[in-house]
Amino acid sequence: MERADVIILGGGLIGLTLAIALDRHDLSSIIVDPADPATIERPAYDGRATAVASASWRMLETLGIAGRLQGEGCPIRSIRVSEGLAAGGIVFEPAEGDNPLGIMVENRRLRAVLREAAEQCPRARLLMPARVADIVRDQAGVRVALDDGRILAAPLLVGAEGRSSPAREAANIAVARWRYDHAAIVVTVAHERPHHNAAYEIFYPTGPFAILPMLPGTRSAIVWSVPAAEAAAFVDLPDRAMAAEIEKRMGSFLGRLEMAGPRWTYPLGFHHAARMTAERLALAGDAAHGIHPIAGQGLNLGLRDAAATMKVSRARQRS
Ligand SMILES: Cc1cc2nc3c(=O)[nH]c(=O)nc-3n(C[C@H](O)[C@H](O)[C@H](O)COP(=O)(O)OP(=O)(O)OC[C@H]3O[C@@H](n4cnc5c(N)ncnc54)[C@H](O)[C@@H]3O)c2cc1C
Repeated sequence: MERADVIILGGGLIGLTLAIALDRHDLSSIIVDPADPATIERPAYDGRATAVASASWRMLETLGIAGRLQGEGCPIRSIRVSEGLAAGGIVFEPAEGDNPLGIMVENRRLRAVLREAAEQCPRARLLMPARVADIVRDQAGVRVALDDGRILAAPLLVGAEGRSSPAREAANIAVARWRYDHAAIVVTVAHERPHHNAAYEIFYPTGPFAILPMLPGTRSAIVWSVPAAEAAAFVDLPDRAMAAEIEKRMGSFLGRLEMAGPRWTYPLGFHHAARMTAERLALAGDAAHGIHPIAGQGLNLGLRDAAATMKVSRARQRS
C-alpha cells in the first residue's frame, strides 16, 4: 500500500499546482490521472492561453513555477471593456509602478512546466496514466484502489478531475449548473501593429469577444463567444474569411490580421457544487466550480482552492 498525506484525483493545472504547494510545505501527495502527459501536452490538445491574475502569478512565483516560464508570459498592462466598437467604455490600468493586471500564458506550456516541477518534488508522486477502480472514504481515512491492483491510502482525497468530477458525483454533492448555449471559439491571430500589452473585452448582443495579448507583441489570443449552433460554421471558414469575420468584430486598430494557428471550440456553461467538502474529501478547481471565461477567472479561482487546501492540510498536520 502506498501512503501519502493527500491523494489528488486529476493532474490538470490545479491538481499539479496543489501537489507542488503541498510539497513545499513538507506534505506528500499522490496524483492519479488517466491521461497520458505525452497526449495532453501536445499542441493539438489545448489551444487556450490563460490570463493568470497578478495574485495567482505571485503564487506561481512563490512555488518556483513563474521562473520556469521566464520570457514566455505576456504581461497585461491594461484591460479595455467596451460595447461593440463604440468609443468610450471602461479602462482598467494598474497604478504607476504596480504589477501588471495579469500574465497571459499558453496552457500547454503551463501544464508542461507544472508537470516537470511536480515530478521533481520529492514528496509528490505522479501516477499518469492510472485509473481509479474503487474509492473508500470513512473515519479511518481514504483508500483508493487502482485498476492495476495498486492500493493508495491517505487521510484526505482531493477531487480535481475537472467539471465532471467522479469524486464529487460519488459523494452525492449536488451541483447547480446551466448551459449558456454558447461556445467559445479560440484562435491566435498575428497582427501588423503591436498590441502594447492591452487586453480587450468587446461586448456584442451575440456574445463577448476578447482580444488577449501574447508574445511577441504582434500576436493575440481571441476568445470569441458565439451561439453554439453557429460555432462549427465559423471554425470551418477558410483562413481569409475567418480573419475577415474576426476583423469585423475587433476593428482594424491592430492593422492587417492573419490566422496564426489552429482553431478550437469549447462549450460554455456554469456549474457550482453545493458543498466543497464531504467526509475526507475536498473539491478543487473545475470539479468545484466553472464559470464563463469572459473574465478569465476559472483557473484563478481554482488556484485559490489549491492554496486553501494546502493551508488546511498544513494546519491539520501541525495540530
Ligand atoms: C475558452 C476558455 C478560456 C479560459 N480562459 C481562462 C483564463 O483566461 N483564465 C482563467 O483563470 N481561467 C480560464 N479558463 C478556465 C480554466 O481553463 C479552467 O478553470 C482550468 O483549466 C481548470 O483546471 P482543472 O485542473 O480544475 O481542470 P481540468 O483542466 O479539466 O483538469 C482535470 C484533470 O483531471 C483528469 N481527470 C479526468 N477524469 C479523471 C478521473 N476520473 N480520475 C482522475 N483524473 C481525472 C483530466 O485528465 C485532467 O488532467 C478558461 C476556460 C475556457 C473554456
